[in-house]
Amino acid sequence: ISQERLDKLTAERPYPIFLAEKTLGLFESPSSLPPPMNAPPKEELVVLGTGWGAAAFLKNIDTDKYHVTVISPRNYFVFTPMLAGASVGTVDFKSITEPIREINSKVRYLEAAATEIDPKTNTISCISIVCEGNSCETEMFDVNYDRLLFSVGAQTTTFGTPGVEEYCNYLKQVGDAQQIKNAIVNCFESAGLPNLTDEDKQKELTFVIVGAGPTGIEFAAELLDFIEEDGRRYYKDLLPFVRIKIVEAAPSILRPFEDGMKDEAIRKLTRKIEIEGVQTLQPLEILLNKLVSEVSANYVYFKDGEKIPYGMALWAAGIGPLPITTSMVESLDDTEQKEAQDFARGRLGVDPWLRVIGGEGKVFALGDCSCVSSTPMLPATAQVASQQGEFLGKLLSKDYCVDAKTGGVIIPPMMLDEGQSRSLSERIASFATGEKNIAAPFQYLDLGILAYTGSGSALAQLQVAPGKGDPSSETWNPVRLQIKGALGFGLWRSIYLWKQTSPKNVVLVTLDWLKVKLFGRDISIL
Ligand code: FAD
Repeated sequence: ISQERLDKLTAERPYPIFLAEKTLGLFESPSSLPPPMNAPPKEELVVLGTGWGAAAFLKNIDTDKYHVTVISPRNYFVFTPMLAGASVGTVDFKSITEPIREINSKVRYLEAAATEIDPKTNTISCISIVCEGNSCETEMFDVNYDRLLFSVGAQTTTFGTPGVEEYCNYLKQVGDAQQIKNAIVNCFESAGLPNLTDEDKQKELTFVIVGAGPTGIEFAAELLDFIEEDGRRYYKDLLPFVRIKIVEAAPSILRPFEDGMKDEAIRKLTRKIEIEGVQTLQPLEILLNKLVSEVSANYVYFKDGEKIPYGMALWAAGIGPLPITTSMVESLDDTEQKEAQDFARGRLGVDPWLRVIGGEGKVFALGDCSCVSSTPMLPATAQVASQQGEFLGKLLSKDYCVDAKTGGVIIPPMMLDEGQSRSLSERIASFATGEKNIAAPFQYLDLGILAYTGSGSALAQLQVAPGKGDPSSETWNPVRLQIKGALGFGLWRSIYLWKQTSPKNVVLVTLDWLKVKLFGRDISIL
């Protein structure tokens, strides 16, 4: 386009930049409309991450109010509760992921990871690594923000245990589940090679799972299903050599569940498997109060001196902050944030409106990387992250003044103007009495927990009534409904289908379940 033509267009029309961009083909989203003549410029809102918190936020944010840029190393959302199923082929990887552009088509997405954030200049340093074949190109760039949503999640923590990083699998990302699937089948194929002693076969087919939380238990349940349903078809002669060992440092499994539910999980997992023409097997064993001290290429070593030879090991023992979160905490030179760290244990301390303490109302954080100060630490779950994402998306879409430095109370600009006649304590008092126009803080609604325990059974511990006492105290005991067995399984599957991000995923997951029922799991190594 010539300058002359551009001048003519801009003279004729009220939205020169928009028209010029459109004519030049730079305009990205056909659904965006030019802003009204006197509208204030849109704020630059940057979202780090494409996980549970970010996805819920993006579903609720008003893109007429903000230019939203999403920065994340992966361009899709993943339904993490079904990663365990994907790691043995019960569902396909594609069925539990959703491109972030499908979740909100009006946002700009940059495939990169944030490496550093400077809250003083509102700048994010990013790195993008794009690989094709064996060659990778690295691009570094900076992005500025007016508002930042920090929702980068957490990483698996090894507690500094030697050898874990080198030899154990994790189950956090789609790539991890893919690796595990290949590793399981590889163990069977290696054990089936000629000239192996029985001892060698048993070593190859010993699966050690470190951590008996929901991730470790659900993976064990899925692995046992794989062995019971598909192992008997493909590797019948090898099944007597299979051992699954769940190792837990604590004295019990599935900490968030009630005792009766834990017992049911143990009963299901340690069930006997009848293999026609072979024998009755009980492949799974749960080892409690067992602390891993080191992992080598062939053994998992324990503090008590014991060692277990293994074919594949999964480390699902806990999560900790990512380096970007640690660097963000350090870059916030703020006394209150430092105090919050006594409690937040490396996560970013946020106020009850999810504003990062010391972030001056410009930075928000939610999900596994954050910790709401002065309340009991919320669990690191998808449930918390998505409720927080929805809350924040709605909050920022309204005209609240989130920069207000008023002891944590968010006051709309209108009220700040008329607030000259009202003291701070008066405003806070009016908040406490629930005055209109003051945003209520985030409140977590615990709907309960689910866990798959294998062979068509699951645990569902649902919270049905608040019960007596103070919900913020450790001793609070709400009324819980406990459902297990086949009914729990029905509920588990229904809830997981209902929680899928799109109808497409509901169809794909249902078809996967049907496919496995009819034809078994795919054991190709890809
Ligand atoms: P995440 O969902 O982890 O998202 C973080 C995002 O940030 C990712 O997109 C990541 O790529 C991106 N990111 C990372 N580093 C950077 C960076 N430097 N710059 C930019 N972006 C970055 N919870 C439940 O409630 N129920 C369950 O049944 C359940 N099952 C689970 C099973 C498994 C196997 C796992 C791993 C987790 C499970 N969880 C479950 C926990 C739940 O997945 C997490 O609590 C939830 O994902 C946290 O959401 P988030 O948005 O904080 O982080």
